Amino acid sequence: MTTLAAALAAARAKLPASEARLLLGHVLGRPAAWLIAHDDEVLGEAALLSFASLVARRAGGEPVAYLIGQREFFGREFAVSPAVLIPRPETELLVDIALAEVGAGKTATGAVSILDLGTGSGCLAITLALEIPQAQVTAVDASAAALNIARGNAERLGAQLRFLQSDWFAALGSERFDLIVTNPPYIAASDPHLAAGDLRHEPQAALASGADGLDAIRHIITAAPAHLAPGGQLWLEHGYDQAEPVRELLAASGLVDIEQHRDIAGIVRVSGARLS
Ligand code: GLN
Repeated sequence: MTTLAAALAAARAKLPASEARLLLGHVLGRPAAWLIAHDDEVLGEAALLSFASLVARRAGGEPVAYLIGQREFFGREFAVSPAVLIPRPETELLVDIALAEVGAGKTATGAVSILDLGTGSGCLAITLALEIPQAQVTAVDASAAALNIARGNAERLGAQLRFLQSDWFAALGSERFDLIVTNPPYIAASDPHLAAGDLRHEPQAALASGADGLDAIRHIITAAPAHLAPGGQLWLEHGYDQAEPVRELLAASGLVDIEQHRDIAGIVRVSGARLS
């Protein structure tokens, strides 16, 4: 007879307690807080086996988010699979900035068109659609598998937005937007981190982008002015060491009012500019 407490204690030899609780909560279909109040209950044989298998897979390096099929972003649960990047807390900075710039009641007419490039799980686009009710949000991704995940998330969370399969701006014709946000791939292809830890399980196309990691960012910044409405803004996430090159790319594209923001770890992580 194994109690929840005993199973969690055994898992702690291999995993942090918080990860073990997420995995056991997933097996039992209960939130982590429930486990704490019920840790004297006995785990059934099937649950014990499922939990042991998940603990072993996590100890072998598979990300918790893929094992339980979800990750929290900006206070909501998003379904994820290995077809999409796992939402990161630092990307919430893009949401904070978008809300500050065009959030409810911030625009003259009320209406605001928003484009999310490379939406993945849809975490950015869906959060903005839910947080800014007057926004018309378009989310694109080159991956059909990613768009399926994103569409499912929008439906579950009750968000209304348009999804398009598109290689960056390719399928958007001459459409222009008040706000473009993107968390593109930005890791250098030779970066050893891509082959280590959780990153090796994530879609490489969502992580790596050319020799210096800037291929996607260069393409997006160069093409952005033709897709921004007058006064429209582009905001993008980038790597810890890319603040300078991104600033130069924004300036070279003719965008103005360049701004850069630090993430929760103090790293300049998000840059933006405006079409004058
Ligand atoms: N911030 C992620 C990481 O370094 C990378 C995400 C991305 O390339 N957009 O793990």
